[in-house]
Amino acid sequence: MKRMTFTELVDGLSSWGDVFVRTKKGFEKDGNLHKAKSKNSPKEFLLPREEMLFVAYGSGDDMRVMEANPSKKRVVVGALPCDMHGLNVTEKNFLSEPKDPYFAKRKDNTVFVTELCQYATSTCFCRSFGIGPSSKMGDIVYFMLDDENIIAEPLTDRGRELLSWNKYEDAKDEDIRIMEEKLAEAENISQDLSLSIDHKKQREVYGSEVFKEAVFHCLNCGACTFVCPTCYCFDIRDIKRKDFVIRERMWDSCMYFIYSLEASGHNPRKERFKRAQNRVMHKFFYQPLQYGVYGCTGCGRCIDVCPAGYDIRETVLKVQNYLEVKNG
Ligand code: SF4
Ligand code: SF4
Repeated sequence: MKRMTFTELVDGLSSWGDVFVRTKKGFEKDGNLHKAKSKNSPKEFLLPREEMLFVAYGSGDDMRVMEANPSKKRVVVGALPCDMHGLNVTEKNFLSEPKDPYFAKRKDNTVFVTELCQYATSTCFCRSFGIGPSSKMGDIVYFMLDDENIIAEPLTDRGRELLSWNKYEDAKDEDIRIMEEKLAEAENISQDLSLSIDHKKQREVYGSEVFKEAVFHCLNCGACTFVCPTCYCFDIRDIKRKDFVIRERMWDSCMYFIYSLEASGHNPRKERFKRAQNRVMHKFFYQPLQYGVYGCTGCGRCIDVCPAGYDIRETVLKVQNYLEVKNG
């Protein structure tokens, strides 16, 4: 690993693209690094809250479509290991065939610089998902030694090309010792739920009393889905103007009544608990079955923002216990 200052890292990367730094709110252009997890995850760099997909104009045989080409180069500095794992989980949906061209283009144009995490709190449970504060992901990874000095290393070819690594001095043994000590502390704080859910037993748990009891206090406000690094539901909207139509995509939430409302008026998730149940089922049953990975990274953001004090960990453990008791 190489030793440098945080400013040198950011300055070196700024020749490649706009630099967005982790702040309290999320990731902001030229922001000041926040010494904790941000409220919002960096998923919006690959799946924006709202994006134009194309503009259609003309009529009949002369109908033309001008497709969006998201080509802006960005560097995202300070994503934490749980953030990066969240992007890896999300891309299983968008980069499986047929690939989503907008997501793929944004991924090509974005460099992720990950910070090894010293900020684990009581709501973190990333160790339940095979990752942890010391998991190295992204193009470059770094560790904050103090308020300004860091040690960093490239993990990909692009990460190697972005900085003149030879011009920096090697990390000292003492730097590595400090890093290992701090990361071990964070690893101890992040919880490991020791999950052993049998995903194929989804039908045994769907609609059961255990779910009704566990999620009854959820208000369906949707806040958890928007801050979640792995929630990717979206809606598509066509906006008609005088001479053209714009097709847009924007974030949606499975917590909303209208999300599952069908054109006939029937709604398979009319009751509040069913929508909260769906969120857990999707993350802990359907996604593992479809993509071989949990749709949760244990970042704890949904617990931090929930106005009803809902803790997804309690539901998951109750469901796991219910299945274990039921199946002996
Ligand atoms: S779990 Fe909490 S944050 Fe999520 S929809 Fe329910 S009340 Fe809102
Ligand atoms: S479900 Fe909650 S803990 Fe899991 S990744 Fe989403 S926000 Fe983080």
